[in-house]
Amino acid sequence: LTQLFRPLDMLGMVYRTVRQGLIDMAEMFKLMDTPVEVADAPGAPALDMRRPTIVFDKVRFGYDKDREILHGLTFAVEAGERVAIVGPSGAGKSTIARLLFRFYDPQGGRILVSGKDIRSVTQDSLRRHIGIVPQDSVLFNDTIGYNIAYGREGALRGEIEAAAKGAAIADFIERLPGGYETQVGERGLKLSGGEKQRVAIARTLLKNPEIILFDEATSALDTRTEQDILTTMRAVARNRTTLSIAHRLSTVVDADRILVLDQGRLAESGSHADLLRHGGLYAEMWARQANEVEDEADRGELDPVA
Ligand code: ADP
Ligand code: MG
Repeated sequence: LTQLFRPLDMLGMVYRTVRQGLIDMAEMFKLMDTPVEVADAPGAPALDMRRPTIVFDKVRFGYDKDREILHGLTFAVEAGERVAIVGPSGAGKSTIARLLFRFYDPQGGRILVSGKDIRSVTQDSLRRHIGIVPQDSVLFNDTIGYNIAYGREGALRGEIEAAAKGAAIADFIERLPGGYETQVGERGLKLSGGEKQRVAIARTLLKNPEIILFDEATSALDTRTEQDILTTMRAVARNRTTLSIAHRLSTVVDADRILVLDQGRLAESGSHADLLRHGGLYAEMWARQANEVEDEADRGELDPVA
């Protein structure tokens, strides 16, 4: 919320960028303090997304010269695969998302999407093919229909409704007195955290990208709402390449593959069962979080919060 009280010129900049359909509003808010330093290569072609694969090849990156965050990170995501990235806070998980969206260029190594170095294609085409659902989604003071549609200029009503349905929020909207014309946001109907995340998922569905990245998309929600949203996310992930960044491990157990990031390095990777068997960092984190969940249950914190 405090993010909404940043200087107005920033808001103008954000608004224009959003209108161009380039990036997600919330993501932009998070990044505003950093100028975007990347540019299209002269004569760069649009990204040809034949196979939505992602490769990080020995990627080295730091926000400041004297502090490297990713130390030669290598991993690959196959087309249609559901990969989760987990790891302690500060490990560099969101940095991976920012690099994939090319808010920054790595200082070493390369990032390939659909086999192409992302520095060699237009930023616009790259960002069109990748959808990001952030941790906290920001709503415009406008109708709920507009809030779903803003990611794509000229979206038809039927397309907006289909996206809402895919995000399991269509029934909720249809029950509102104003339907899709209902005003939401600070001056309108206040949506719950879960409803806001559904709007964010609907936005992304409308954009229909081949690659979807969830960056802690459920971590601000209570456990029960999280489970509901996860069910929706699983449906959305079908037939798409998805990368889910998560702090709570209970949300990634059924991923095809889990990458465990520790201090900018890939510590382990495998399925949930593989990693438990391996008995390393993931198994340790799993045991620790299982205890936390028990503690929460003891204190009755598993009930939804208002
Ligand atoms: P995670 O998402 O795993 O919690 P991040 O990728 O956000 O971690 O951050 C990794 C490291 O990079 C952290 O130490 C963080 O403080 C630092 N960092 C993140 N964003 C910036 C930035 N814009 N400028 C400088 N350092 C940053
Ligand atoms: Mg993060």
